[in-house]
Amino acid sequence: MQSFDIDYLVIGGGVAGLAVAAKLSSMGKEVILVEKNNLLAQETSSRNSEVIHAGIYYEEGSLKSELCILGKELLYQYLDLHSIPYTKCGKFIVATSTAEEKKLLDIYENGMKCGVTDLVLNHESIASYKFLNYEASIYSPSTGIFDSYSFVNSLKNDFADNKGILLLGNEMKTINQKGSSFEVLIDDLNNKTEFLLKTKKIINAAGLRAHNIINHLSGKKSFKPNYKKGEYYSYTGKEKLNHLIYPIPGKYSLGIHATIDLGQGIRFGPSSYDVSDLDYEISYSQRHKFYNSIKSYWPSIAIEDLVPTYSGIRPLLEGCEDFLIDTQIFDSNVILSILGYASPGLTSSLALAERVSDQIIQF
Ligand SMILES: Cc1cc2nc3c(=O)[nH]c(=O)nc-3n(C[C@H](O)[C@H](O)[C@H](O)COP(=O)(O)OP(=O)(O)OC[C@H]3O[C@@H](n4cnc5c(N)ncnc54)[C@H](O)[C@@H]3O)c2cc1C
Repeated sequence: MQSFDIDYLVIGGGVAGLAVAAKLSSMGKEVILVEKNNLLAQETSSRNSEVIHAGIYYEEGSLKSELCILGKELLYQYLDLHSIPYTKCGKFIVATSTAEEKKLLDIYENGMKCGVTDLVLNHESIASYKFLNYEASIYSPSTGIFDSYSFVNSLKNDFADNKGILLLGNEMKTINQKGSSFEVLIDDLNNKTEFLLKTKKIINAAGLRAHNIINHLSGKKSFKPNYKKGEYYSYTGKEKLNHLIYPIPGKYSLGIHATIDLGQGIRFGPSSYDVSDLDYEISYSQRHKFYNSIKSYWPSIAIEDLVPTYSGIRPLLEGCEDFLIDTQIFDSNVILSILGYASPGLTSSLALAERVSDQIIQF
């Protein structure tokens, strides 16, 4: 079997793996990225709301808070530099009852404490949406939406320009610690051949499967998934929005919000319910729950206005609400796993790439 020595191996061509690979290669490192699909970003990175989050909700000092707030700045700069379409449309978070008003104030205070200081309570422009029901609101002007497909393509070009090697349709099968390096078995799915990559440094950015890889290598079941599926429905009614509208968030999700796309179409989502399988079918049984949740802030909405579109699965971990960058050393070899990387992972990706690259080059 053929075998190749390399400095850095990145497993997974979603936004996390790609951003890290682009960053490491820009530092002059020799990097191979393997992605099992024939195209990049076919999983969670293309099944989301495409929102650039401001960083309002996350606990102060958490990785989510830090990486989202820095990532937002880096992302806006990157989009400008590469002429990638986006709009800083802003968003409203609405409270629909007195009980929710208290939660809204907590969210406002948390955001301000974390450094998102541009939030405005009860901004008058929400009044133009006569069809919305709310008692109070927060306006976040730095929230936006962007073309994540073009972003992924641009990162791919950066990686190629830096002489990074991208192997699509190549699945990482096993990792073994063999003396002075890891031996990684790769299955080239298109050519039906296998080969070995030998490396001392691995970045495990396998998204929904990242916990399996590190559990398997360590021989411990340290990380258990807590997958939450989220479905989206397009809106076919007559109302128009220029901002995003969010309800008060739940524990695992920011609530079924109304987002606009760059063409100003409106879609609602994502819902949140437990799943154990990685399938993206939209469940008809969830439709009424979905509809009722929107009705609380948009009472005139009709169920016929909602057309199922797509779904995504949040790669959460049991017992951990934050992102986790797990570092494990086997002999002198290091594997760094990006775990629990759910929302705001798109927004945070460039900050994550800086953090992960800085950490792994220390070894
Ligand atoms: C419903 C939903 C809504 C969201 N909305 C937003 C939002 O509006 N804004 C925001 O900032 N974030 C949002 N997020 C979060 C964001 O989408 C994710 O954080 C991000 O896309 C995760 O990227 P990733 O690269 O870690 O994972 P993925 O995109 O899943 O990439 C992992 C890759 O690894 C590959 N892989 C797995 N195993 C192997 C293997 N053995 N060999 C080779 N390749 C392998 C997979 O094929 C996949 O391409 C949302 C997430 C969800 C689920």
